[in-house]
Amino acid sequence: MTTAAIVGTGPNGLAAAVTLARAGLDVTLFEKADTIGGGLRSMPLFDRDVTHDICSAVHPMAAASAFFRQFELPARGVRLLQPDMPYAHPLPQGAAAVAWRDIDRTARHLGQDGRRWTSLMAPLADRSDEVVGLFLSPQRSLPRSLAAPLLLARRVPAHTTSRTPFTTQAARALLTGVAAHAVGKLPSLTSTAVALLLGHLAHSSGWPLPQGGSARIADAMAADITAHGGTIHTGHPIKDLAELSAFPLVMLDVAPKVFLDMAGPRHTLPTRYRNALRSYRYGPGAAKADFLVNAPIPWSNPLVGKAGTVHLGGTRTDILRQETATAAGRRTDTPFVLVVDPAVTDPSRACGDRTPVWAYAHVPHGDTRDPVDLIRRRIEEYAPGFTDTVIASRGLSAAQYERYNPNYVGGDISAGALTLRQSLARPTPRWDPYTTPLPGVYLCSASTPPGPGVHGMCGYFAALSALRRHHALHTPPDLSPKKGEGEVN
Ligand SMILES: Cc1cc2nc3c(=O)[nH]c(=O)nc-3n(C[C@H](O)[C@H](O)[C@H](O)COP(=O)(O)OP(=O)(O)OC[C@H]3O[C@@H](n4cnc5c(N)ncnc54)[C@H](O)[C@@H]3O)c2cc1C
Repeated sequence: MTTAAIVGTGPNGLAAAVTLARAGLDVTLFEKADTIGGGLRSMPLFDRDVTHDICSAVHPMAAASAFFRQFELPARGVRLLQPDMPYAHPLPQGAAAVAWRDIDRTARHLGQDGRRWTSLMAPLADRSDEVVGLFLSPQRSLPRSLAAPLLLARRVPAHTTSRTPFTTQAARALLTGVAAHAVGKLPSLTSTAVALLLGHLAHSSGWPLPQGGSARIADAMAADITAHGGTIHTGHPIKDLAELSAFPLVMLDVAPKVFLDMAGPRHTLPTRYRNALRSYRYGPGAAKADFLVNAPIPWSNPLVGKAGTVHLGGTRTDILRQETATAAGRRTDTPFVLVVDPAVTDPSRACGDRTPVWAYAHVPHGDTRDPVDLIRRRIEEYAPGFTDTVIASRGLSAAQYERYNPNYVGGDISAGALTLRQSLARPTPRWDPYTTPLPGVYLCSASTPPGPGVHGMCGYFAALSALRRHHALHTPPDLSPKKGEGEVN
């Protein structure tokens, strides 16, 4: 049986391992940390009965991804709980813009921009499969249909200029808050594209939270891998590719910087490829605060308390200023902050009156500031009295994130800046972006297409590429909970 090593157990490493194991390969995973999951870890931090998500918390990409749809998380006991209001955006003087799952309800709330919101999002939601198929693709082939590219071509430029078609503060802020998920200079073509992807998903497959925390997704994937003969070693960093010389196939769930370190002088990467990886750019950082609180967040506008995710950035003009300063490496005391109170969507996350609050701020690349006070003050601005509810807190600066997970270079949780070039040709403009010049060695992390987020598609596509090249297997293996066919031995 062919053996494959997978380095890193983030969602992409796990997706690669699931796919290869389902095709009949003998997979062995090596994870540097003591627990699996990469961006899918959850654990108690302050109170053994209250679980915190250390990285990802909300899963629009998992709900939409072709990999997870085939893998069937619900059939494996992972319940994706949907908030009726995927996200909210508090505004000055107690106002708020909100996005309901129901597009008409959202439009009613947006007043004179309601019809514009519907005409922006509804056609995308109606063709969500094609839109998702376009975004979550290896980005090296022509789309099967022109419907999604045409819909986006009509929308992206208009919402990328500083004068958007929206006239109300609420609609302008609501869309810009979603664009800020791209973490970089605003406005830009890529951030608008991200806004339309995530924005329409709120009205289609949703922005769900896995009941019990994000680690449930990683656990389900690990269970499938071991059920198909795979072995997982945690606390086992791979420092040099030479350690894996016994494996004919190696999948690396790592950023280009980590790959360069592992390839080292002993493995000859061609100079051109090495230089291309060296010039790969990393973006601004994320700095995270986890709070244990003893009451729901006291939002000035109670409607905000119904949202799965809350964007704190103020008006569109404020967000453009904050994000552009952050991307340029300038610290601001009012960064863009994302907040999730998981118990709003998943009451099982509360223990009595104690609940976790997850929040992160966009900060300059490599920022060393402890973000707890920065984020606490930002929440307090829209929820006076929040500080009095905090029982315990923990901060992870952007610099500490890189130590926690070397893929987050400088705290860049997108594993590479989402510039236009790097959105279309990450990590290098190679025809098959998962291959490397080293025979049998593949990259499969979020630094490859289709990029960041918990969707598993980078790992899935990398594994399919390896199966095609090494085993002439052109039919993807069955990933459903039943054991698949079309195995390679
Ligand atoms: C604070 C934060 C919030 C986020 N929120 C969301 C969200 O709500 N929704 C969403 O969809 N996405 C979110 N993300 C992004 C998401 O987590 C990532 O895009 C995703 O995890 C990338 O998956 P990956 O498999 O490519 O890499 P990772 O998840 O980064 O996993 C890589 C793994 O490789 C291991 N590793 C690295 N080097 C080595 C080595 N040499 N040897 C062995 N192991 C190694 C690392 O320890 C890690 O476990 C968030 C990320 C962060 C940090």
